[in-house]
Amino acid sequence: MTLAEALTAARGRIDRLDARLLLEYAAGVTHAYLLARPETPLAAPAGEAFLAWVERRAAGEPLAYIVGEAGFRGRVFQVSPDVLIPRPETEVLVELALARLDGIERARILDLGTGSGIVAITLALECPAARVVAVDLSAAAISVARTNAGRLGAVIDFRRGDWYAPVAGERFDLVVANPPYVAADDPHLARNGLPFEPRQALTDGGDGLACIRAIVAGTAEQLAPGGWVLFEHGWDQGAASRNLLTAAGFQAAFTHPDLAGIDRVSGGHL
Ligand code: GLN
Repeated sequence: MTLAEALTAARGRIDRLDARLLLEYAAGVTHAYLLARPETPLAAPAGEAFLAWVERRAAGEPLAYIVGEAGFRGRVFQVSPDVLIPRPETEVLVELALARLDGIERARILDLGTGSGIVAITLALECPAARVVAVDLSAAAISVARTNAGRLGAVIDFRRGDWYAPVAGERFDLVVANPPYVAADDPHLARNGLPFEPRQALTDGGDGLACIRAIVAGTAEQLAPGGWVLFEHGWDQGAASRNLLTAAGFQAAFTHPDLAGIDRVSGGHL
Protein backbone atom coordinates (compact mmCIF):
# COMPACT_ATOMS: atom_id res chain seq x y z
CA MET A 1 0.00 0.00 0.00
CA THR A 2 1.25 3.49 -0.87
CA LEU A 3 0.52 6.69 1.03
CA ALA A 4 -2.01 7.66 -1.64
CA GLU A 5 -3.72 4.26 -1.43
CA ALA A 6 -3.93 4.54 2.34
CA LEU A 7 -5.73 7.88 2.03
CA THR A 8 -8.08 6.36 -0.53
CA ALA A 9 -8.85 3.49 1.87
CA ALA A 10 -9.93 6.03 4.52
CA ARG A 11 -12.09 8.07 2.13
CA GLY A 12 -15.72 8.21 3.14
CA ARG A 13 -14.94 6.57 6.49
CA ILE A 14 -13.51 9.58 8.29
CA ASP A 15 -12.90 13.28 7.68
CA ARG A 16 -10.16 13.93 5.07
CA LEU A 17 -8.11 16.16 7.35
CA ASP A 18 -8.23 13.54 10.11
CA ALA A 19 -7.17 10.84 7.64
CA ARG A 20 -4.23 12.93 6.51
CA LEU A 21 -3.12 13.65 10.08
CA LEU A 22 -3.43 10.01 11.13
CA LEU A 23 -1.41 8.95 8.10
CA GLU A 24 1.29 11.50 8.88
CA TYR A 25 1.55 10.06 12.41
CA ALA A 26 1.42 6.41 11.27
CA ALA A 27 3.96 6.84 8.48
CA GLY A 28 6.12 9.36 10.33
CA VAL A 29 6.01 11.83 7.44
CA THR A 30 5.23 15.53 7.20
CA HIS A 31 2.33 17.05 5.35
CA ALA A 32 4.72 18.36 2.70
CA TYR A 33 6.13 14.86 2.18
CA LEU A 34 2.65 13.39 1.87
CA LEU A 35 1.82 15.87 -0.88
CA ALA A 36 5.14 15.55 -2.69
CA ARG A 37 5.61 11.74 -2.57
CA PRO A 38 2.18 10.07 -2.46
CA GLU A 39 3.62 7.03 -4.28
CA THR A 40 5.87 6.18 -1.29
CA PRO A 41 5.14 2.64 -0.10
CA LEU A 42 3.89 2.31 3.46
CA ALA A 43 5.54 -0.50 5.47
CA ALA A 44 3.02 -3.16 6.53
CA PRO A 45 3.07 -2.33 10.28
CA ALA A 46 2.51 1.39 9.62
CA GLY A 47 -0.25 0.58 7.13
CA GLU A 48 -1.97 -1.72 9.61
CA ALA A 49 -1.66 0.85 12.38
CA PHE A 50 -3.18 3.47 10.09
CA LEU A 51 -6.17 1.29 9.14
CA ALA A 52 -6.77 0.42 12.82
CA TRP A 53 -6.66 4.13 13.69
CA VAL A 54 -9.15 4.91 10.92
CA GLU A 55 -11.53 2.36 12.47
CA ARG A 56 -11.15 3.96 15.90
CA ARG A 57 -11.70 7.43 14.49
CA ALA A 58 -14.74 6.18 12.54
CA ALA A 59 -16.12 4.89 15.86
CA GLY A 60 -15.92 8.42 17.24
CA GLU A 61 -12.70 8.33 19.26
CA PRO A 62 -11.06 11.76 19.24
CA LEU A 63 -7.92 12.04 17.13
CA ALA A 64 -5.93 13.40 20.07
CA TYR A 65 -6.46 10.18 22.05
CA ILE A 66 -5.51 8.04 19.06
CA VAL A 67 -2.20 9.82 18.48
CA GLY A 68 -1.71 10.66 22.17
CA GLU A 69 -1.11 14.37 21.79
CA ALA A 70 -2.71 17.71 20.98
CA GLY A 71 -1.59 21.27 20.39
CA PHE A 72 -2.34 24.24 22.62
CA ARG A 73 -1.05 27.76 22.02
CA GLY A 74 1.72 26.50 19.79
CA ARG A 75 2.97 23.72 22.06
CA VAL A 76 2.33 19.98 21.90
CA PHE A 77 0.93 18.28 25.01
CA GLN A 78 0.55 14.57 25.68
CA VAL A 79 -3.01 13.54 26.37
CA SER A 80 -4.68 10.32 27.48
CA PRO A 81 -8.30 9.47 28.25
CA ASP A 82 -7.50 10.52 31.85
CA VAL A 83 -7.52 14.18 30.80
CA LEU A 84 -9.65 16.51 28.69
CA ILE A 85 -8.36 17.29 25.23
CA PRO A 86 -7.14 20.92 25.01
CA ARG A 87 -9.71 23.25 23.45
CA PRO A 88 -8.89 26.44 21.60
CA GLU A 89 -11.31 28.46 23.77
CA THR A 90 -9.09 27.81 26.79
CA GLU A 91 -6.48 30.02 25.10
CA VAL A 92 -8.76 32.93 26.04
CA LEU A 93 -8.35 32.00 29.71
CA VAL A 94 -4.57 31.96 29.26
CA GLU A 95 -4.51 35.30 27.46
CA LEU A 96 -6.63 37.02 30.12
CA ALA A 97 -4.38 35.50 32.80
CA LEU A 98 -1.23 36.77 31.08
CA ALA A 99 -2.70 40.26 30.88
CA ARG A 100 -3.38 40.20 34.65
CA LEU A 101 0.14 38.93 35.38
CA ASP A 102 1.80 41.70 33.41
CA GLY A 103 3.81 43.81 35.85
CA ILE A 104 3.56 41.40 38.80
CA GLU A 105 7.02 40.23 39.72
CA ARG A 106 7.35 36.61 40.85
CA ALA A 107 3.61 36.09 40.65
CA ARG A 108 2.12 33.22 42.63
CA ILE A 109 -0.33 31.33 40.42
CA LEU A 110 -2.78 28.56 41.32
CA ASP A 111 -4.33 26.39 38.58
CA LEU A 112 -7.30 24.37 39.81
CA GLY A 113 -8.26 21.19 37.97
CA THR A 114 -5.12 21.25 35.86
CA GLY A 115 -5.88 18.10 33.82
CA SER A 116 -3.15 17.73 31.18
CA GLY A 117 -1.54 20.86 32.63
CA ILE A 118 -2.00 23.11 29.61
CA VAL A 119 -2.93 26.25 31.57
CA ALA A 120 -0.37 25.86 34.36
CA ILE A 121 2.45 24.90 32.01
CA THR A 122 1.71 27.65 29.49
CA LEU A 123 1.65 30.29 32.24
CA ALA A 124 4.85 28.93 33.80
CA LEU A 125 6.65 29.01 30.45
CA GLU A 126 5.39 32.46 29.49
CA CYS A 127 6.00 33.96 32.97
CA PRO A 128 9.29 32.33 33.90
CA ALA A 129 9.57 34.19 37.21
CA ALA A 130 6.15 33.01 38.39
CA ARG A 131 5.68 30.22 40.91
CA VAL A 132 2.90 27.90 39.74
CA VAL A 133 0.97 25.43 41.84
CA ALA A 134 -1.35 23.05 39.94
CA VAL A 135 -4.04 20.99 41.65
CA ASP A 136 -6.14 18.09 40.40
CA LEU A 137 -8.28 15.50 42.11
CA SER A 138 -7.15 12.84 39.67
CA ALA A 139 -3.76 11.23 40.28
CA ALA A 140 -3.81 9.97 36.69
CA ALA A 141 -4.29 13.52 35.39
CA ILE A 142 -1.42 14.79 37.53
CA SER A 143 0.80 12.10 36.09
CA VAL A 144 -0.03 13.28 32.53
CA ALA A 145 0.52 16.91 33.53
CA ARG A 146 3.84 16.06 35.20
CA THR A 147 5.02 14.38 32.00
CA ASN A 148 4.02 17.43 29.98
CA ALA A 149 5.79 19.80 32.37
CA GLY A 150 8.94 17.70 32.15
CA ARG A 151 8.87 17.48 28.37
CA LEU A 152 8.25 21.21 27.95
CA GLY A 153 10.66 22.30 30.66
CA ALA A 154 8.15 23.94 33.02
CA VAL A 155 8.64 23.88 36.77
CA ILE A 156 5.27 23.27 38.45
CA ASP A 157 4.41 22.33 42.00
CA PHE A 158 1.74 19.62 41.52
CA ARG A 159 -0.63 18.75 44.35
CA ARG A 160 -3.40 16.17 44.36
CA GLY A 161 -6.66 17.05 46.08
CA ASP A 162 -10.02 18.74 46.07
CA TRP A 163 -9.90 22.38 44.87
CA TYR A 164 -8.22 24.47 47.59
CA ALA A 165 -7.62 21.63 50.08
CA PRO A 166 -3.97 21.07 49.06
CA VAL A 167 -3.12 24.81 49.30
CA ALA A 168 -4.84 25.70 52.59
CA GLY A 169 -3.32 28.83 54.10
CA GLU A 170 -1.35 29.78 50.97
CA ARG A 171 -1.91 33.02 49.05
CA PHE A 172 -1.82 33.60 45.30
CA ASP A 173 -1.87 36.60 42.98
CA LEU A 174 -3.93 34.70 40.43
CA VAL A 175 -6.27 31.72 40.63
CA VAL A 176 -7.21 30.16 37.28
CA ALA A 177 -9.44 27.21 36.53
CA ASN A 178 -11.04 25.36 33.67
CA PRO A 179 -13.45 23.36 35.83
CA PRO A 180 -16.09 20.81 34.80
CA TYR A 181 -19.02 23.05 33.89
CA VAL A 182 -21.28 21.09 31.53
CA ALA A 183 -24.67 20.31 33.11
CA ALA A 184 -25.25 16.59 33.61
CA ASP A 185 -28.33 16.61 31.36
CA ASP A 186 -26.67 18.56 28.51
CA PRO A 187 -26.98 16.51 25.29
CA HIS A 188 -23.55 17.92 24.31
CA LEU A 189 -22.00 15.29 26.63
CA ALA A 190 -23.09 12.57 24.22
CA ARG A 191 -21.60 14.22 21.11
CA ASN A 192 -18.32 15.21 19.45
CA GLY A 193 -16.18 12.58 21.14
CA LEU A 194 -17.09 13.79 24.66
CA PRO A 195 -18.10 10.23 25.74
CA PHE A 196 -14.41 9.31 25.36
CA GLU A 197 -13.28 12.06 27.73
CA PRO A 198 -13.21 11.80 31.55
CA ARG A 199 -16.71 12.59 32.72
CA GLN A 200 -15.50 14.12 35.97
CA ALA A 201 -13.54 16.69 33.97
CA LEU A 202 -16.60 17.73 31.96
CA THR A 203 -19.56 17.78 34.32
CA ASP A 204 -20.23 18.33 38.02
CA GLY A 205 -23.07 15.81 37.75
CA GLY A 206 -25.59 18.60 38.44
CA ASP A 207 -26.46 22.00 37.00
CA GLY A 208 -22.93 22.71 35.74
CA LEU A 209 -22.25 25.49 38.26
CA ALA A 210 -21.30 23.42 41.32
CA CYS A 211 -17.55 23.59 40.73
CA ILE A 212 -17.68 27.28 39.83
CA ARG A 213 -19.56 27.90 43.11
CA ALA A 214 -16.88 26.00 45.03
CA ILE A 215 -14.06 27.86 43.29
CA VAL A 216 -15.59 31.30 43.79
CA ALA A 217 -16.57 30.59 47.41
CA GLY A 218 -13.06 29.58 48.41
CA THR A 219 -10.96 31.97 46.39
CA ALA A 220 -11.06 35.12 48.58
CA GLU A 221 -9.19 33.28 51.33
CA GLN A 222 -6.47 32.24 48.90
CA LEU A 223 -5.89 35.51 47.10
CA ALA A 224 -3.31 38.10 47.98
CA PRO A 225 -4.62 41.71 48.10
CA GLY A 226 -5.45 42.80 44.55
CA GLY A 227 -5.41 39.19 43.36
CA TRP A 228 -7.49 37.93 40.46
CA VAL A 229 -9.63 34.87 39.87
CA LEU A 230 -10.39 33.79 36.31
CA PHE A 231 -12.29 30.71 35.21
CA GLU A 232 -13.69 29.18 32.04
CA HIS A 233 -17.40 28.38 31.80
CA GLY A 234 -20.23 27.51 29.46
CA TRP A 235 -21.96 29.79 26.95
CA ASP A 236 -24.91 30.48 29.29
CA GLN A 237 -23.02 30.79 32.59
CA GLY A 238 -21.66 34.35 32.32
CA ALA A 239 -24.38 36.11 34.32
CA ALA A 240 -24.48 33.41 37.00
CA SER A 241 -20.69 33.54 37.28
CA ARG A 242 -20.65 37.34 37.69
CA ASN A 243 -23.40 37.13 40.31
CA LEU A 244 -21.42 34.55 42.27
CA LEU A 245 -18.30 36.72 42.09
CA THR A 246 -20.12 39.87 43.19
CA ALA A 247 -21.83 38.03 46.05
CA ALA A 248 -18.40 36.77 47.18
CA GLY A 249 -17.11 40.37 47.40
CA PHE A 250 -15.25 40.59 44.10
CA GLN A 251 -14.99 43.89 42.27
CA ALA A 252 -15.50 44.53 38.61
CA ALA A 253 -16.78 41.04 37.87
CA PHE A 254 -16.57 40.62 34.11
CA THR A 255 -17.19 38.07 31.38
CA HIS A 256 -15.07 37.72 28.25
CA PRO A 257 -16.11 36.01 25.01
CA ASP A 258 -14.09 33.39 23.13
CA LEU A 259 -13.13 33.75 19.47
CA ALA A 260 -16.56 32.49 18.47
CA GLY A 261 -18.13 35.39 20.40
CA ILE A 262 -19.49 33.09 23.11
CA ASP A 263 -19.28 34.02 26.82
CA ARG A 264 -16.36 31.89 27.99
CA VAL A 265 -14.30 33.32 30.87
CA SER A 266 -15.40 35.27 33.93
CA GLY A 267 -13.35 36.81 36.66
CA GLY A 268 -12.89 39.51 39.22
CA HIS A 269 -10.38 40.87 41.67
CA LEU A 270 -10.14 41.66 45.33
N1 GLN B 1 -15.72 23.38 26.62
C1 GLN B 1 -15.81 21.97 26.82
C2 GLN B 1 -16.88 21.39 25.96
O1 GLN B 1 -17.93 21.95 25.88
C3 GLN B 1 -16.04 21.61 28.27
C4 GLN B 1 -14.82 21.86 29.06
C5 GLN B 1 -15.06 21.83 30.53
O2 GLN B 1 -16.06 21.34 31.04
N2 GLN B 1 -14.16 22.38 31.23
O3 GLN B 1 -16.66 20.41 25.32
